[in-house]
Amino acid sequence: MEKILIFGHKSPDTDSICSSVVTEKLAKHYGLDAEAVRLGDLNKETEYVFNYLGIEVPKKISEIEEGQKVILVDHNEKEQSVDGREKAEIIGVIDHHRIAAFETVYPLYYMAKPYGCTSTVLFEIFKRENIEIDKVSAKLMLSAIISDTLLLKSPTCTDKDREAYSELEKIAEINAEEYGLEMLKAGTDLSMYSADEVINLDAKEFSEKGKKLVIAQVNTADINDVFSRKEELEFAMEKSIADRKLDLYMFLITDIINTNSKVIVLGNDRSVVEKAFGKSIDENDSIFLEGVVSRKKQVAPPILAVL
Ligand code: MN
Ligand code: MN
Repeated sequence: MEKILIFGHKSPDTDSICSSVVTEKLAKHYGLDAEAVRLGDLNKETEYVFNYLGIEVPKKISEIEEGQKVILVDHNEKEQSVDGREKAEIIGVIDHHRIAAFETVYPLYYMAKPYGCTSTVLFEIFKRENIEIDKVSAKLMLSAIISDTLLLKSPTCTDKDREAYSELEKIAEINAEEYGLEMLKAGTDLSMYSADEVINLDAKEFSEKGKKLVIAQVNTADINDVFSRKEELEFAMEKSIADRKLDLYMFLITDIINTNSKVIVLGNDRSVVEKAFGKSIDENDSIFLEGVVSRKKQVAPPILAVL
C-alpha cells in the first residue's frame, strides 16, 4: 500500500505540526500506512514543544507526486496547501477553518468543527471512537490548543477547547498553565535579535500634521523579559529618532497572556501620548496600558487624534 502523507498549512504553526503527528497515530490505528510531514520550518514555539517531548520532527516536503494520497489538517484552502496539490488525491481533512478554494475528485473523510484548534477536533474523534490517548499525543494536542487559543484566552476559544484542555492536561500529567507559559514564551523569544532588530521587527511609521512618529510592537508572554533590555532598546530608539528625524517613538511590549501593553515612549512629543491616554509617562520612560493589544485599533487612533 502506498504511503499517505499528512500535513498542515504552509508556514506551519504548532497546531499544524502537532495535529499532523497525532493524525498519523490515528491513521495508523486504522491500519493505514501514513506519515506526518510539514511544509515549512518549525517556529520557535513548535521547536520548544519537540525539544520538550524529545520526539522526531516530521520531515519537510516541498513537492508532491502525481496521485499522492494526502490528509490535510488545520487548513483546506488551496493557497495555503502544498504546491501542486491538484495532482494529489485528498482522502481526508481535519480542520477548524472556513471552507474555501476546495474541491476533490473522489469522496473523502471530512471533519471540520468551528472550534479554536484542530487538536480539539482530533480529541473529539479519539473520544467518540474510544481510542486511547497516549501521553505524547496528549501533550501534542495540549500544545496545539495552548498555541491556537493563547492558553484559552483568545476570543476564538470555545467550551470544547476548554474541555479538551483539561482532560488532556490530566492525561499528560503536566501543569498545562506552567508548561503553556513557557511554550508561548519560547515562541516570543527575542534573545537572538539585537536591540535594533527588536524595534524593527514590526515597526510602522505615521505622518500627521507635519509630525513623524513610529509605533513599533513586539509580542511577549512576559513583559519583563523584554523590558529588562530597556537600556539597549532606548539606545536603538534614540538612534532611529535622530536618523529618521522623528518627533515620537513608541515601542509597545504586548503581553499576549494578560492582554496588556507596556510602552516605552521617547521623542520631543511625548506629551502627545500622555494626552491620548490620560496618563503620565513614568520615570522609566514608560506607560502601562491595560487591556491594550492592538496598535491598529487601540493605539494609533487616539495618538493621531491628539496630533
Ligand atoms: Mn494553523
Ligand atoms: Mn489551527
